[in-house]
Amino acid sequence: MQKTTIAGEARAPLAEPDIPLSLPVGDEVKTTTCYMCACRCGIRVHLKDGRVRYIEGNRDHPVNRGVICGKGAAGIMQHNAPSRLRAPLLRVGPRGSGEFKEIGWEEALGIATGWLGRIRATDPKKLAFFTGRDQSQSLTGWWAIQFGTPNFAAHGGFCSVSMAAAGLYTFGGSFWEFGEPDWDHTKYLVMFGVAEDHASNPIKIGLGRLKARGAKIVVVNPVRTGYGAIADEWVGVRPGTDGLLVGALIHELLSRQKIDLDYLVRYTNAAALVIDSPGSADHGLLARGEAGEVLVKDRRTGALIGIDTPDLAPVLQGEVRLADGRIARPVFELMVRRFLAPENAPDAVAARTGIPAEQIRRIASEMASAAFDHPVVLDQPWTDWHGKRHDKMVGRPVAFHAMRGISAHANGFQTCRMLHILQMLLGAIETPGSFRVKPPYPKSIPPRVKPRGKVGDVKPGTPLPGPQLGFVTTPDDLLVDDDGIPLRIDKAYSWDAPIAAHGLMHMVIANAAKGDPYPIDTLFMYMANMSWNSSMNVPAVIGQLTEKDETTGEYKIPRIIYSDAYFSEMVPYADLILPDTTYLERWDCISLLDRPISDADGPADAIRHPIVEPDRNVRGFQDVLIDLGWRLGLPGFTQADGSRKFPGGYPDYITNHERGPGVGPLAGWRGKDGEAYGKGEPNPNQLERYIANGGFNHHELAHEQRYMKFANRAYMEWAHSKGFLESMDRLVMQIYCEPLQRFRLAADGHGNVVPPETHRERIRAYFDPLPVWYEPFEERMVDPHQFPMHAITQRPMHMYHSWGSQNAWLRQITAANRLYMARAKARELNIADDDWVWITSHQGRVKAQVKLMDGVNPETAWTWNAIGKRAGAWALDRRAPEATRGFLLNHLIGELLPEREGGYRFSNSDPVTGQAAWYDLRVRIEKAEGEPPGSSPRFEPLHLSVERAEASR
Ligand code: SF4
Repeated sequence: MQKTTIAGEARAPLAEPDIPLSLPVGDEVKTTTCYMCACRCGIRVHLKDGRVRYIEGNRDHPVNRGVICGKGAAGIMQHNAPSRLRAPLLRVGPRGSGEFKEIGWEEALGIATGWLGRIRATDPKKLAFFTGRDQSQSLTGWWAIQFGTPNFAAHGGFCSVSMAAAGLYTFGGSFWEFGEPDWDHTKYLVMFGVAEDHASNPIKIGLGRLKARGAKIVVVNPVRTGYGAIADEWVGVRPGTDGLLVGALIHELLSRQKIDLDYLVRYTNAAALVIDSPGSADHGLLARGEAGEVLVKDRRTGALIGIDTPDLAPVLQGEVRLADGRIARPVFELMVRRFLAPENAPDAVAARTGIPAEQIRRIASEMASAAFDHPVVLDQPWTDWHGKRHDKMVGRPVAFHAMRGISAHANGFQTCRMLHILQMLLGAIETPGSFRVKPPYPKSIPPRVKPRGKVGDVKPGTPLPGPQLGFVTTPDDLLVDDDGIPLRIDKAYSWDAPIAAHGLMHMVIANAAKGDPYPIDTLFMYMANMSWNSSMNVPAVIGQLTEKDETTGEYKIPRIIYSDAYFSEMVPYADLILPDTTYLERWDCISLLDRPISDADGPADAIRHPIVEPDRNVRGFQDVLIDLGWRLGLPGFTQADGSRKFPGGYPDYITNHERGPGVGPLAGWRGKDGEAYGKGEPNPNQLERYIANGGFNHHELAHEQRYMKFANRAYMEWAHSKGFLESMDRLVMQIYCEPLQRFRLAADGHGNVVPPETHRERIRAYFDPLPVWYEPFEERMVDPHQFPMHAITQRPMHMYHSWGSQNAWLRQITAANRLYMARAKARELNIADDDWVWITSHQGRVKAQVKLMDGVNPETAWTWNAIGKRAGAWALDRRAPEATRGFLLNHLIGELLPEREGGYRFSNSDPVTGQAAWYDLRVRIEKAEGEPPGSSPRFEPLHLSVERAEASR
């Protein structure tokens, strides 16, 4: 075959090089799971003489199919990082001094057991146990239940809880790792605020498939980075206005009657009747029949019938008279009224979003064309929930994928819900070509588990009766006392954040230091860099960690236990350090009980196993937790005779722990002989089976189970049999979110549990059962002339949280972050490329170096997250660019909103879910005239000064 150059002249094809391209680099290869980001790809680790030499992707692995990214390949430098902690440490100097003495594990575990044992015997809520971006929440949560404290959560409150909660309350699933576009059939993909570090290899592979098929990719993000670079269209929306943009798209589709009415009637609560009886205790609730069934009006007979009736032909508009004479209206009508209102028209939102009305109209038109002019029809028979057989699967090939960019605003929950409404209007959830959920999702809408921790749930020496995290559907589920005072230290599930499905980790330290709502005794954290990049208002957090009670001289947070593998900025502020291993030295379980690695065609889970033995006196945190559980006598970890339940540590727990009959951390190769999937007795050889299979198990769903999972009988029966679905009850997607209305009714004084007066206006305003856009709080609070610009962070594709920026290879890509801004805006402000500028918010100011670019919303400046480091931390040279030229935008973000009447201060969070509103930051940018180069503020360099001891294992 003749090949041509771009210029067109003929050129001989290149001969295959006669050189070996795959020389073995080691003498042994072991397969495990990457932990350099949350995608959890399969990796092959090459070893030579027992040392890690090279990491490549595992071609057999369902997540990455052999692809490795820069982070994954650089895992070797994470494993060899000089910042690795080497032994348990006990603080000997003041907090923050970094003065520790090395102790043995027996002593460390003895100290921890003493501290924690006292709390458990007297008042378990005095322990606050919070974990960062670890991947073992089903174990840590179980441990916290056994301990009996209500104060447990992971990092979701400052990550993307609004995204997760909006999805779970709307369709029983979510974006991010819980769902994915139908990569094989999507023709039009829209991505909102997706971070390239979090959504990495699986998305890259999928985007490649879309590109190969010529599908259109639209990226909505104030910044054209990462995936924006390969998008066919970049929509540079102004931060915090995504809801206006989505509302306008809905407006357009409704105006043009380009919606999938049949889908809405079959699978959503569009036809449900909403009681219109202002002032009454059930105003705005769904009308129900005698058996509690949600009612619709039958168009053929005029009768009020249950929404689960087969072949529904409901009335969708107009007034309907209920049996008691009151009026009700279909959800569909309320939704149409909301979105057809003039304020949702493209022309009305164009200026505010920064997106021309014509562009909004065109995108709506392209979506409608892809969905309705080019449906995907699969020759795949299936049976619906009613038992009706369909000979084909028909889908709308418009897919969406979204992440923190739309979630981390004070209006994030409602914006995410609005995006789901758009998907439903297009018939584009779980149909061929659209967004698909990954088993074990979908769940009940919302999942039926309720948070525990009410008065009476928390007792000395007693496990909590259930999990700390769950899904409230009525004010009765809240964790508040009779006066409305929060029962959790982070105020999750209180009137401050009623639907806080992931807790509010970002408020724990501030609340604990103030003793609001009560003081705690011990803060126990894992992998959470709370004195630096995982907190808003870092100087305040450092103050809270070191603040002492004037009368007792004791720290306001008396004891802090911290586990991490590295010398992060948090280490000097803890009292007892339990050093963790690197991910290549440990057992881990990526479980279906937690955040699994499934794809839409089937559930998957995985393990990590020690590839090499630690060369330091460190232990895997999960092993330590299990050991501590036994030392504390927690029932889940202790036999009736007082002996250890899991003497083999974490691998023993992974193999033998049963959360319910036959249900354990891993779903594959269960049963004595290893032949069962999902449910079955523990299999003593289960881990060997995982290792032999490359560290993972992937169960392929039958073809007829793969779409419409919320209404697909074959899928639902299977999911129910495996415990993924609590029941065979129909899953009806919720355009109208009735639980929110119950909170509004409470704000009007109805029900047993009503909010304090200070919270009522807020509940009424933001708990709208139909999605609504409102201006983010910070934007409303500050003077737009004083702080005219938005400032947000993006995540570099090559780094993940703060882990990557200590990595010797990855640092060579980005060792100092810049403040990126639009050229035109910089000209206006007399700022040139490479200038140093002051970025000022209502909270404070930081100094940074500017880089100019074109692909950014002109009203927005941005930087890479978590590159800036505190001097001395992470074993970096004190003059490292990360500390001298890098900066952290977090210093500018307030964790609290201004004081209200009566002195109350709400957290700077979404009022529904408590999600930290990181991306609402408003700033002013000014040239730092006549000042020397270098970032500011500079904190005192951190030290780690360790008195060495004879450590024993
Ligand atoms: S995408 Fe994430 S999990 Fe996959 S190889 Fe890269 S760092 Fe590892």
